[in-house]
Amino acid sequence: MRIITYSLRNGVNSNEYYEAAEQTAAIVSEEGLRELAMELQAFKRYIRENNIEVLRSDVEYLMELLTLGVLLLRYSDDAVVLNQISKQVLTNLVEMRQKGGSLKPSADFLRGLLGTFVLYSEHRPELVSALQFNTKNFTKLLEWLTAAGEFSQEVKRLSSWLDYAKGLSDEESSELIASAVSFAIWFEEESLKHLGKYTEGLEAYLENVSETHRWRENLIFCSRQRLEYHLNMVGAEIMNKAYREDFIKTKRKAVFLPACIRKRIRGGCKAKEKKGVLYCASCDLGCQVREIKELGEQHGYEVLIIPHESSAFSDEKVPEGELGIIGIACVTNLLAGGWKAKSSGIPAQCVLLDYCGCKNHWDDEGFPTAINIERLKSIMLKSS
Ligand code: SF4
Repeated sequence: MRIITYSLRNGVNSNEYYEAAEQTAAIVSEEGLRELAMELQAFKRYIRENNIEVLRSDVEYLMELLTLGVLLLRYSDDAVVLNQISKQVLTNLVEMRQKGGSLKPSADFLRGLLGTFVLYSEHRPELVSALQFNTKNFTKLLEWLTAAGEFSQEVKRLSSWLDYAKGLSDEESSELIASAVSFAIWFEEESLKHLGKYTEGLEAYLENVSETHRWRENLIFCSRQRLEYHLNMVGAEIMNKAYREDFIKTKRKAVFLPACIRKRIRGGCKAKEKKGVLYCASCDLGCQVREIKELGEQHGYEVLIIPHESSAFSDEKVPEGELGIIGIACVTNLLAGGWKAKSSGIPAQCVLLDYCGCKNHWDDEGFPTAINIERLKSIMLKSS
């Protein structure tokens, strides 16, 4: 195992990490629900009165408000200088990419070039702290996130907050956005204290990312900062609790695995492809997928390897209570993955990859990743 960005292991396993993440999530929930109680209740009233969606729990809306604060802190400096033409071209390229097919490689090539020029810059916190937090800059943030193409779920969730903020007076909306930012500033310090030891490797990685990923379409994805990793780590714990009851009640259950977890990642994997997903053929005794497949058989879970994010969920909504999943992913995909599953009618639980190593983003050759099997077992046991 090589640490590229993060590692949940303390040399032996990631048990200690999961304890730290649970404690941090409890601190963040308690502080956020107290500090932002009025903002959350007012937003829930707006959701209910305007029939926007089935009301979610307070902690789910708290995570959205925290995400807003974190993304404003992280990307406002780039968002306020993105011009209309670049924004439109990049947004069109993202749409072209999502359609897939033969145009995807060209769309990615152009996104790599243009994204490096106009989306990426060294982070400038001094510029962010000089900005006014108002609906105009909130709008610009969502436009930048849309143009970047990596934040579709975040944009979806935060759009309701923007609509809500636009209906408030200027003073009220500025106060709302400023409280999200203050909470994110508190969260940055608090999460670093509890989870920083698991993301230390990112500091060195990020120093070179603008060189190693220059002109590549995943430059923004690979440039995520420690604050964003910590947001996802805490978010995963909070969402696991929030979705647990619905997940337990589902009739069918499945584990979704990323392709990078296979032992024979560089060739020789005998998994069988069917409708865009892979089913393990148990060809290698030392492969963690094989172990997870056996666990799945014991606990009534189907185990699928998802080679591309696009094959994870179909566009059709799954009937409520039909399917629950345990999603396994690297840290930066957790919150968005949970939101995406929920919008497809699928309550999800997640287990983090202990470290990343896929060829698509992190390593030229790629090496097998792994999870904490005890953690997976405990989720399966609690639900069976
Ligand atoms: S055990 Fe399964 S996932 Fe692992 S390499 Fe063999 S077929 Fe592929």
